[in-house]
Amino acid sequence: MDPALGAILEKAAMRPRNISETEIEALLSVGGGEGLDALFSAAYAVKARAVGRVVAFRGLVEAGNVCAKDCLYCGIRKSNGKVARYSMPADEIVACAEFAARENYGSLVIQSGEIEGEAHTRFIEDVLARIRHLGLGVTLSLGEQTEEVYARWKAAGAARYLLRVETSNPELYARLHPASHSWERRVECLRALRRCGYQVGTGVMAGLPGQTLRDLAHDIAFFGEIDADMIGMGPFIPHEDTPLGDPSLVSPAFGSAAVSPSKEDRLLLGLRMIAATRLYLHDVNIAAATALQALADDGRERGLLAGANVIMPNITDVKYRRSYQLYEGKPCLDEEASQCRACLRMRIAAIGETIAFGRHGDSPHFSRRQ
Ligand code: SAH
Ligand code: SF4
Repeated sequence: MDPALGAILEKAAMRPRNISETEIEALLSVGGGEGLDALFSAAYAVKARAVGRVVAFRGLVEAGNVCAKDCLYCGIRKSNGKVARYSMPADEIVACAEFAARENYGSLVIQSGEIEGEAHTRFIEDVLARIRHLGLGVTLSLGEQTEEVYARWKAAGAARYLLRVETSNPELYARLHPASHSWERRVECLRALRRCGYQVGTGVMAGLPGQTLRDLAHDIAFFGEIDADMIGMGPFIPHEDTPLGDPSLVSPAFGSAAVSPSKEDRLLLGLRMIAATRLYLHDVNIAAATALQALADDGRERGLLAGANVIMPNITDVKYRRSYQLYEGKPCLDEEASQCRACLRMRIAAIGETIAFGRHGDSPHFSRRQ
């Protein structure tokens, strides 16, 4: 192995935030073979020490695909007229929460397109009130809202919130969104969530058109700056019915494979991001995003082996799954939640880890900060 890489890995493992942005970038540019193995095993060792070889489960409910936004990369963006829109009734979301509780998942994520307004705010409040007695750790991922709305949902029982910044580079953000979408507001929302007392999760997509390794290294430094508790990151996967759907759009982060990167190239970039983030932040929760599984059957297990410690099994009724395709190749479109559970259990046992059944799986970083 390159001695320079060995030195960075050793330095990073000593304590959180011990390496520079340039050194993070060096980790992200590690090629195949020995170097990559060394990167993943160093990240895995830090994970084992900081959070344990235990996987936390979050049952994921895709509560609706109605969205006021038009992010250029997203399959359910407002302008995609091919999508059949749905909003799950409260009873069905509550039934999903009951399923998660019965299966002993310990926690739940309610995600949807972005809707603002009193009716929707109250709808979510009502759902939260109805599931409170189940004792699940509840995460919301419902986009940008006012601080007042975040505070109301927190008071109604939500403990965590996931809002990816998507990229920490405002200029790149501007190229990926219509002019009406604001990077500054997104970051202000992250601050508001922190003020409201949430465990705050953020993240980015890796491999976006125009994104460089320098951008990605800066993203990881940004997670540290805003002191995130949870990171949800995934590879960007083009969706053909979106303006960024052309798979040959150039992503300099892929180096020599910048034009038309393969699925494996996209997956490996996502895995390098997980490993470098674990090596930089140590004790945060990091999700092995479903997008990893869209690129390879064992993508999520490879995510765990690169330093992730959270998996979000989809517990949405299969009748909705085809209508919630943010990217192409979404896995398990026809698999009922109970099948997912058995399949995951086997996969996780196969890599020698255990599932933290029945626990909220709070971010150790958050607990330490409190
Ligand atoms: N509307 C909410 C939550 C749903 S979108 C929000 O935007 O925060 C959840 C995440 O899906 C987004 O943050 C984005 O990072 C990811 N996503 C959207 N389109 C994607 C694509 N083509 N490839 C990979 N991830 C994508
Ligand atoms: Fe809507 Fe989220 Fe997709 Fe943007 S990423 S279009 S906010 S669902």
